[in-house]
Amino acid sequence: MKNITILGATGSVGTQALAVIQSNPDLYRVKALTAQSNASLLVEQALAFKPELVVITDESKYQAVKDALSGSGIKVLAGEAALCEAAVLAGTDMVLTALVGSVGLRPTVEAVKAGKDIALANKETLVVAGDLITTLARENGVQLIPVDSEHSAIFQCLVGEPAGAIEKIYLTASGGPFRGKDQSFLKGVTKNEALKHPNWVMGAKITIDSASLMNKGLEVIEAKWLFDLDAEQIDVIVHPQSIVHSLVQFNDGSMKAQMGLPDMKLPIHYALAYPDRISSDFKRFSFIDYPELNFYKADMETFRNLDLAYKALLKGGNMPCIINAANEVVVNAFLQDRIGFLEMSDVIEACMEGIGFIEKPSLNNYLETDEYTRILADQLVTK
Ligand code: NDP
Ligand code: MG
Repeated sequence: MKNITILGATGSVGTQALAVIQSNPDLYRVKALTAQSNASLLVEQALAFKPELVVITDESKYQAVKDALSGSGIKVLAGEAALCEAAVLAGTDMVLTALVGSVGLRPTVEAVKAGKDIALANKETLVVAGDLITTLARENGVQLIPVDSEHSAIFQCLVGEPAGAIEKIYLTASGGPFRGKDQSFLKGVTKNEALKHPNWVMGAKITIDSASLMNKGLEVIEAKWLFDLDAEQIDVIVHPQSIVHSLVQFNDGSMKAQMGLPDMKLPIHYALAYPDRISSDFKRFSFIDYPELNFYKADMETFRNLDLAYKALLKGGNMPCIINAANEVVVNAFLQDRIGFLEMSDVIEACMEGIGFIEKPSLNNYLETDEYTRILADQLVTK
């Protein structure tokens, strides 16, 4: 029996993880669940899975959750700081980080320090502070098991391979809804167009990131930390069908790919079960349905975010933290119709130039960088 805590239980990854857990009641028990403001779904999940603790970070929803769960024996906490309590809860074996954004940083740090294995969906945390998280994980004997489909693919390809055998990896990208478009087209796209991902149904933030290729940029940085690679060893290849989830090229020239239908339940299922592989009834891939699998070079001139992410990775220090924070602000602004699609990259680039560079940041430096970048990005959006 594995005891699992889900940070961000009410989201796209969180709800799919609970579906996986529900299908395997003999393998998993839920210890704690958290949400930001979706009180009704959190309560429904709590009544179904009977965790010890639920956290609602939006304090105005605390009383409603508390009332709905009265008599259930489930402890209810509110506020952002309570995420850390869920992350370190005694008896938890694994924390699934399915929050969106750098709000995941503190609870992930605390979970790792408390020796909890991490099933990592919340890529922003690794982008912001990859050196800190991976160092802490090594020191505390904690496993970081990727949930992101591309990284799960690489991770699966590496099982049984000797350390140091990777020559390079290829992260596949669907290209999103605007694949093949040019900047004059992108200038006028709306949020509703950007929210229509061709292959995956996901939360709003990552869907916009997929349309702008920032998601792939964040994933390049995520891969650097998960697999200890240099920027030159990480390539992005556009693969519109999202069947090959990523590839590893080894030092003898051999390549391995992991494939499957685009369904997040599969990498979630793999991460929760790791190091085991457990049977599932997920729909199987059929070659007949996919007579063609295509691969193209990524267009980093049109989709500048990917280029900016590589630049941030090469620069290192707090630069990935800066692009992540700026990106969180501009994606929100785009979702509120306050900024155009292409202007997102302009604001991110201005923040990369405008925020002070720190070569070896501490946790506090990261938190401050995140805060200052949000202020600057917000000012630039308002202008
Ligand atoms: P969603 O927006 O669907 O869900 C986010 C979850 O986190 C919800 O439970 C939400 O609560 C909670 N949350 C959001 N903001 C905060 C906050 N400020 N404080 C506390 N809790 C918060 O996101 P996804 O599930 O799509 O993505 C989660 C993470 O997984 C992201 O980092 C994403 O990049 C990554 N990922 C997602 C994939 C997908 O298929 N969705 C694929 C690969 C990676 P509430 O519901 O109450 O708002
Ligand atoms: Mg991904």
